[in-house]
Amino acid sequence: MDKILRINMGAPGGPSLTTSTPGPYAGLGGRAMTSTIVTAEVPPTCHALSAENKLVIAPGLLSGSSAAMSGRISVGCKSPLTGGIKEANSGGQPSQMLARLGYAAIVVEGKPASDDLYKVVINRQGATIEVDNSLKGLGNYDLVERMRSAYGDKVACISIGPAGEMKMSAASIAFTDMEQRPTRHAGRGGVGAVMGAKAIKVIVIDDSGMGVRSAKDPARFKAVNKEFVAGLRKHPVTGQGLPTYGTNVLTNVVNEAGGFPTLNFSKGQFEGAAKISGEAQAELENQRGGEGSATHGCHSGCVIRCSGTFYDKNGKFLTKQPEYETVWAHGGNCGIDDLDAIAQLDRLDDDFGVDTIEMGATIGVAMEAGLAKFGDAEAAINLVREVGRGTPLGRILGNGAAVTGKVFGVERVPVVKNQSMPAYDPRAVQGMGVTYATSTMGADHTAGYAVTANILGVGGTVDPLKPQGQVELSRNLQIATTAIDSTGMCLFIAFAILDQPETFQALMDLIGSFTGDACTADKFVELGKTILKKEREFNLAAGLSKKDDRLPDYFKSEKLAPHNITFKVTDEELDQVFNF
Ligand code: SF4
Repeated sequence: MDKILRINMGAPGGPSLTTSTPGPYAGLGGRAMTSTIVTAEVPPTCHALSAENKLVIAPGLLSGSSAAMSGRISVGCKSPLTGGIKEANSGGQPSQMLARLGYAAIVVEGKPASDDLYKVVINRQGATIEVDNSLKGLGNYDLVERMRSAYGDKVACISIGPAGEMKMSAASIAFTDMEQRPTRHAGRGGVGAVMGAKAIKVIVIDDSGMGVRSAKDPARFKAVNKEFVAGLRKHPVTGQGLPTYGTNVLTNVVNEAGGFPTLNFSKGQFEGAAKISGEAQAELENQRGGEGSATHGCHSGCVIRCSGTFYDKNGKFLTKQPEYETVWAHGGNCGIDDLDAIAQLDRLDDDFGVDTIEMGATIGVAMEAGLAKFGDAEAAINLVREVGRGTPLGRILGNGAAVTGKVFGVERVPVVKNQSMPAYDPRAVQGMGVTYATSTMGADHTAGYAVTANILGVGGTVDPLKPQGQVELSRNLQIATTAIDSTGMCLFIAFAILDQPETFQALMDLIGSFTGDACTADKFVELGKTILKKEREFNLAAGLSKKDDRLPDYFKSEKLAPHNITFKVTDEELDQVFNF
């Protein structure tokens, strides 16, 4: 990856494209690349939708190579939702393809003066940009279909739906999967609104004629890749649980642990959990046939294959297999126990281009406000349709749970730094509470997935109901996650590398044999710390402070059934997370 593409949407006379060497950013990938560019080039106090903000899209360090699991991509910017820095991570094919075309990053800067909407095309010959106002208002599915007709069935797309065009804070950026469907999303933090503010509807990528990126030490690279894959296959979570049931294997597990946020975080167990569990989902998908359940990778090179395909009652493709977070957000959190309704909501979210976590949490808040009854799937679907249409109500909902709570006078709004909490109640999984509170990203389970030691017994055990050990657990996970997000590796490799020292070593050797620069555990941890510190400094300069590193008060006073417990980690302890 020897070049960076800069697209200046505010250049005199219309957008300009320039390609340069990575310069000071050489050797960085994924989150390390996006956060380094954002912290170096974006004024922390700028308006997130202004010309001063930049949208950075970066494949991981190992993306485009034959390393298993290495096709994740990072999107960075100042977030319109949190007001701080954002890295949103996605699967899909664009990471592999951009990396093979030699791009270490795409940086979109400036803002066009007109109302035109643009299309970018990147291929072996270079990159071009043109106005295409015929794309205005299209959902991601229709948009991708048009691109497929125009550019063939080998291209990948990075796109926004109507929510991004309307610059909603819940707007996502879609990445097409191996079947050219816009099912993978950089969902969190409103990154789609930033792409909308830059007026780019779609980036079409064609890597025809390009080969895989080669390693500095190909023989060693091939050998350690085999060891790495063997380690993933050996671990019960990456080798069995995720491939068999997908991420939704967690519904029964987290519900059993009393940490499945139900009816807008009112209790920790949902009566309808079994009906929407991974086990029920797999059975339904198997009954309906088609490609079957849970045997699908979201990008080429994935060997865990936690994904699947969801067909409707008539056997017609509806959406990808809804992930655990989506099943929870649109299911238990809203009292909905119908997998078909949840899948329909997932499809609408992907088509309009909104984050399923933020939308589910928002509908939960709307239900608490009385806009619909908990459990009313049809009402939930109608509310999401309002978002797609951009009605006044839809624009409120499309700006997320915090805005919706404020507009409708709801006190119980489960957000940190305005971003919705995901699918683990922080009272029953206290390590997750520490991550939600302190992550540079706002409430984000992927930032430091303490469910590992709190619930799954992976990487040790820490009692989920007690405050002891949670700060250290979250801190270590946040550091490791930041480094993993820089490699292009799917975060799910963490289960195997936390438990199996030889698989962790295989990852170090993969990086070392690929780059030619030996990678050690110390170096890996140092990378994570360096990037986290930069992100933290950006947030402080943007005006966030330790008062923003807190859960909403009601988590400290309202007891959660069935454990009847509140969040116990003190503010003083939370302030120690970044003490490294
Ligand atoms: S394990 Fe799942 S999320 Fe990770 S790369 Fe594979 S399909 Fe995508």
